[in-house]
Amino acid sequence: MSCVIFCRVSSREQEETGYSLAAQEKLLKEYANKKEFEVLKIFKVSESASGKQVRKLFNELFAYATKNKIEVICCEKIDRLTRNLKDAALIQEWLEEEKNREVHFVKENSIINQNTRAHENLVWDMKVAIARFYTKNLSEEVKKGQKEKLAQGWLPCKAHLGYKTVGEKGHKTQMIDEKKAPFIRKIFELYSTGNYSTTALVDMMYKQGLRSQVGKTVGKSRLYDLLSDPFYYGKMQWKGEFFNGKHQPIISKDLFDSVQEKLNRKFKSPLYTKHLPVFKAKMTCAGCGGTVTWETQRGHWYGHCNHYKDCSQKRFWRQEKIEDRLLPMFDKIAPKGEKVLKIIEKALKETHNAEIRYYTASVTETNNIIATAQKRLEAIYEDKIDGIITPEFHAKKLAEYTQQKEDAIETLKKFNEDNTKYYQAGYTLHELALRAGDIYKSKIATTEDKRLLLSKIFSNLSLEADNITPDYTLAFQFMTKWIPILNKTFEQEKIGSVQGQKSQFDSSHPAMLAYLHSFRTFNWAVAVGDLETTNKEIAHLLSLVISPKVAHFLQ
Ligand SMILES: [Zn+2]
Repeated sequence: MSCVIFCRVSSREQEETGYSLAAQEKLLKEYANKKEFEVLKIFKVSESASGKQVRKLFNELFAYATKNKIEVICCEKIDRLTRNLKDAALIQEWLEEEKNREVHFVKENSIINQNTRAHENLVWDMKVAIARFYTKNLSEEVKKGQKEKLAQGWLPCKAHLGYKTVGEKGHKTQMIDEKKAPFIRKIFELYSTGNYSTTALVDMMYKQGLRSQVGKTVGKSRLYDLLSDPFYYGKMQWKGEFFNGKHQPIISKDLFDSVQEKLNRKFKSPLYTKHLPVFKAKMTCAGCGGTVTWETQRGHWYGHCNHYKDCSQKRFWRQEKIEDRLLPMFDKIAPKGEKVLKIIEKALKETHNAEIRYYTASVTETNNIIATAQKRLEAIYEDKIDGIITPEFHAKKLAEYTQQKEDAIETLKKFNEDNTKYYQAGYTLHELALRAGDIYKSKIATTEDKRLLLSKIFSNLSLEADNITPDYTLAFQFMTKWIPILNKTFEQEKIGSVQGQKSQFDSSHPAMLAYLHSFRTFNWAVAVGDLETTNKEIAHLLSLVISPKVAHFLQ
């Protein structure tokens, strides 16, 4: 005869007695062996499984038993199979369908089937009832115990992260875990600054050594729960109700409240952007490469290394102090005054025409190269057919001409990505460089305007003690290279210093020629990106310092 085995064990049982699913399975297999039943399948479910999961497994079990014409189900005790009335009803139904079906309760040494005598059926019914009562009663007892515990001021469950459980069973209380509590405090403090996302905190706390009670990473959702748990300031939340706790708080209620405000705040609220620090996400710590984090203190923004990594830089930088060091950097990239700017722009516009001529000539030349390579390819093909050249020589020449042709086609493609339409943006970037300092200092410039300006000039700013090391954007890398050269040349030549004298600083000057060549070959398409957006952004930034009338005059 064949049978199926059903195992179920509670986690509490396993914890307290070490009795596991494996042990229960062994017992049932031995029983089946003794009875000479062939075990076709073992169904296992842990106590922690939800009622829905258990019912699903039951349905599978009965379906399997019916399909395979199995007549015996082996189970340890009645209460394993019948945690509630519904479970018992399912078993009763299955038994009533066929007269040969049996359920063996191994530990209770009882067998239930259709032919079970009336008094045994009564025993079964009673056992089901008792099992049900016991389960229900147990949960009621547990609930009663929990209520008492809460009323006494103690949490009736495992200690929260940052606390440890002390005392004997029935008298357990929670004490601060000195190893973990500082992490909890830090998490609340950092989150309240508004500069840390939960993701950043997870990463940071893991690196600093925080682990859950079972030694795992404290993940994002766990961290969120932790940040919204009033337990840490002394309140206990239990099934929607609040109780006063007797445990020692780790944080103040003020800190908790400020964290709740940040947790519930929508990220893009105007309130948030209004208080955005100018340098947020624009600076890194030179010590470790980590992001510089910003927080306010007494109305000032202070930046400091985020310390995600090991880093000895403990310094706090005040925003105004950084600005003091940053503004002179704008001078370095600025043409010396309007006159220099005008000369550069004039030279650029003149070469623009030359550029178009050069461009046309280059395209013609490249097309010639392609045509020649093509002719040669055809010629060597003929030569090979006629047997004039060896196959080896043919292969060599074929590779050579093919390469020539492909290179020329590539060059032509580059010409087609017309660089000249980006020139206008190139000119205005020079003007932006001239006025960057004024724009930044402009009274009407908002934080967003300043951030936009910074993003046009710097790709990053690295902070170390009193030094700021800038990384420039591509366009401003070009500017930092050439503007100092042009400024210096301009000074040496004293151009424009004599009134009425024609400027000698023209396109034929060697420095200017080199600059113009560099401008023409610079990849403005890549540096400028989306042309329309860039033009709009630069125009907006310039409008902060130039009245439309003056702007018109400058053109
Ligand atoms: Zn650092």
